[in-house]
Formats: sequence, structure tokens, C-alpha cells
Amino acid sequence: MNLKKQFTEKIITIDGPAGSGKSTIAKLLARELGFNYIDTGAMYRIITLLALENNIDPEDETKILALAQQSSLELENSPADESRYTIVRLNGKDVTNEIRSKEVGAAVSIVSRLSGIRKYLVKLQRELSKHGNAVLEGRDTGSVVCPDATLKVFLTASFQERIKRRDLQNKQKGHLIEKQAIKKEISSRDRIDSSRKDSPLIIPENAVVIDTTNMSIKEVADKIKRFYYERI
Ligand code: C5P
Repeated sequence: MNLKKQFTEKIITIDGPAGSGKSTIAKLLARELGFNYIDTGAMYRIITLLALENNIDPEDETKILALAQQSSLELENSPADESRYTIVRLNGKDVTNEIRSKEVGAAVSIVSRLSGIRKYLVKLQRELSKHGNAVLEGRDTGSVVCPDATLKVFLTASFQERIKRRDLQNKQKGHLIEKQAIKKEISSRDRIDSSRKDSPLIIPENAVVIDTTNMSIKEVADKIKRFYYERI
């Protein structure tokens, strides 16, 4: 028996820049396939919140890592609730909304550049996905976390479309963030995420690349499912 194949059975990774449609698609696929949804971005956001709440410089790897190791991070999925699909708890406190704040958004790419933090979270992500039946979503899930996944997808969309989607999402959540501020945050995150030394945002080897600019959610999900069923 091919052990490598057995270990990586039934894992779909979805990577791409902010606003490319990753979360929507990853949740939809996880729900339809009955898979566990692993939101790796939420994990980087919890660590960022932890640093901000404790007034730690987002570049201070030693202090952030020490605090992270003493803290309890929990991600619990409730697929029936679209807006709170993954409930996130930090030391027992529900921080699902806090991790999406403007402050966390502005600092998360700085914290996720730190190699020690990445190593710590990648280990947790591999642990969470070790039994398969999982959809992982992030920036390095196909290139670093699960390079032997059944299907690796890289989603992309034009910059304008990504801004439009993030703006709509914010409005639906009742967050009043100016379009100019969204543009600034997304272009800064794109730049830092793609240029960092450790695990930059790249198209993973053998990934299927889908430009979602002019596609509906259903079209994207159907395309990914076709690729997935071809592989299994
Ligand atoms: O996906 P989301 O927008 O929540 O991710 C927030 C940030 O976390 C990204 O901009 C990136 O800096 C970081 N991240 C990462 N690696 C991942 C997932 C997220 O560096 N696998």
C-alpha cells in the first residue's frame, strides 16, 4: 500500500490572495463533502489578536510565541451558520468577531512573517488535518502544510473584483470601512504575503489555478468538485 497516498487521502487545499473567494468556496465544499473546514487564516489572526491585546510588538517573535504556547486556541465548526461557520476561542473567550477587526487585519501579515509562529501553526494545522476529509484554506496550505493533498487549488481574481467583494462582505456584516481603506489593507497584505521569505503566497506545484473574477460561486465550486472527483 502506498502510505503517502493513504496519509494524504481526501484533502483539498485552497490558497489565494484576500478576496479571491477562498473562504466562501472552502466552506461550501466542506459542507457539501462533509469535510472538516480548517481556516488557517483564522489561526494567524488569533495569534495577532493575542499580541495586540497584550501590547506586544507584532514583530517580537519570542514574546508572541511564548504567549501563544501558554494559550488555548480553539476552532469549532458549525456548518449550519454561514456567518459564524468557525467559532474561534482564545483562552475560552469567543473572539470570532474580534479576529476580523481592522486592527487585526492591519497587523496579521506582519505576525505571519515570523518563522517561529509559522512553524508552530503549521504543526497544529497538520495535526488537525491528519485524518483527511478536510478542506484547508490559506496562503501556504498546498505549498507547505499539505503538499501531497488530493487536490490543490489556487484561486485568484482581479484586484478591483477583490476590493468589491470585501466591501460587500463588510457592508453585510455592518462594518463601515471606507473603500480606500480596504484597498490599502488588501494591497499591503498582498505585498507582504507574496514577498516574505518563509512560505510566501505562491501557486503550489501541480495546483489547479482558477480565476474567479467572472465566475459565480456555484461555477467555481462545481469546477473544483469536478477536479476532485477526477482525482479520487
Ligand atoms: O485568510 P485571511 O485573510 O483570514 O488571512 C489573514 C492573513 O493571515 C493573511 O493575509 C496572511 O498574512 C496570513 N496567512 C498566512 N498563511 C496562511 C493563512 C493566512 O500567512 N496559511
